[in-house]
Amino acid sequence: MSDEKRLLIINTGGTLGMDPKKTAPLAPGAVAERVLRHIPEARELANIDMQVLFNLDSANMQPNHWEAIARAIAQKVDEYDGFVVIHGTDTMAYTAAALSYMLTNLGKPVILTGAQRPIAAIRTDARTNLVQALELATCDIPEVGLYFSSKLFRGNRALKASIDDFDAFASPNFPALAEVGLNIDIRHGVLRRPTGLFHLQTGFSNKILSVRLFPGLRPESLMQLLETDIKAFLLEGYGAGTVPSTERSVIPFIREATAQGKMVTLTSQAQTGRVEPAIYEAGCLAIEAGAISCQDMTPTAALVKLMFLLGQFDEDPRRAARAFSQSIAGELTP
Ligand code: ASP
Repeated sequence: MSDEKRLLIINTGGTLGMDPKKTAPLAPGAVAERVLRHIPEARELANIDMQVLFNLDSANMQPNHWEAIARAIAQKVDEYDGFVVIHGTDTMAYTAAALSYMLTNLGKPVILTGAQRPIAAIRTDARTNLVQALELATCDIPEVGLYFSSKLFRGNRALKASIDDFDAFASPNFPALAEVGLNIDIRHGVLRRPTGLFHLQTGFSNKILSVRLFPGLRPESLMQLLETDIKAFLLEGYGAGTVPSTERSVIPFIREATAQGKMVTLTSQAQTGRVEPAIYEAGCLAIEAGAISCQDMTPTAALVKLMFLLGQFDEDPRRAARAFSQSIAGELTP
């Protein structure tokens, strides 16, 4: 059939393709045949090819792996109508965010999915996740999405919320792009559309550090980090974006880091809602000292964005800082 869609599955590893009979520690097995053998019905959806790019527990994913996935997609973007990336659940949200920043003006679906149980297990979420991801990849969804347990999320808005539920992902600050039930309900109104020609932008810096604030944290330990080559910090503060500002105050750290030309960004340990540091004095002081709010980005999306922006701007935090508050791929609501 000439109008049959062409899809490429790119395997990167994770539980989905593992051999369920192997005892711990689980290692990815001979994934390609196993996967395709278990979803014979997928051939009705499209003409499907599969590329095994690597076979990693996603805890071992590194920025060079993100770039390899993006390159594999960019090289074949004209050959296929859509892409499904099989990925371990643990760092899937990081990869999804990274792909969303790298694949500029993406005109077709790139859907990441995985599973809590291997595809060859009797009781598994892998088959439905994969088949539905493939079906979504035949639709008009020009975004990097993450499909899990009946919902397609914008990739850079998703996070792994449960270790053992089949319903393992959430998108606390942005609605699902699509929901799969009896019908596939796509929210066309929220989809992003390309505004120019597709191109690939690679390059990540890892001279960043995320620090979770906690009562009792010694500011001296933060000050010591200013002696290192770290260029940007992601402070995980509290609630609306507050930080200790009286006893054991981190404000001098923020001020000193900023004076040295480093970047300090501020997110929250609360999962839902928008960081609005101006609401409380303990947040206002952080902003006055130079901290930049992560607004409603997930900490994952903000962290990968810092890596990406520093990568794009020769590790110059001042240039990266100017771009940080703007949306690259819908990861924040202006
Ligand atoms: N440890 C696995 C991974 O992230 C878990 C999974 O795939 O669900 O690769």
